[in-house]
Amino acid sequence: MIKYVIGIVISFIALSFIRAVMGIISKSVKESVEDAVAGDAPKPRPEPAKATQLRKCATCATYKPEASMIRYGAGEKSVFFCSADCEKKAAS
Ligand SMILES: [Zn+2]
Repeated sequence: MIKYVIGIVISFIALSFIRAVMGIISKSVKESVEDAVAGDAPKPRPEPAKATQLRKCATCATYKPEASMIRYGAGEKSVFFCSADCEKKAAS
């Protein structure tokens, strides 16, 4: 009887593990497909980075969410400023 119960528990754990792995795989496949589709588009592809990603201010080195920062440039060469003050300091 105990063996039977242990078998059920193990198969349940294995099943949820497989499901988690499958979820990760299908998610990454979907993302790479979306990347490929976006790469074919004539317009510059949107940043894959999430709006909540932290960016470093080029002037004062403060980390803030990308969405709340002033941005210059695109992609890897982007420069971020946490505030208009930092932007002015960088320009001067
Ligand atoms: Zn700053």
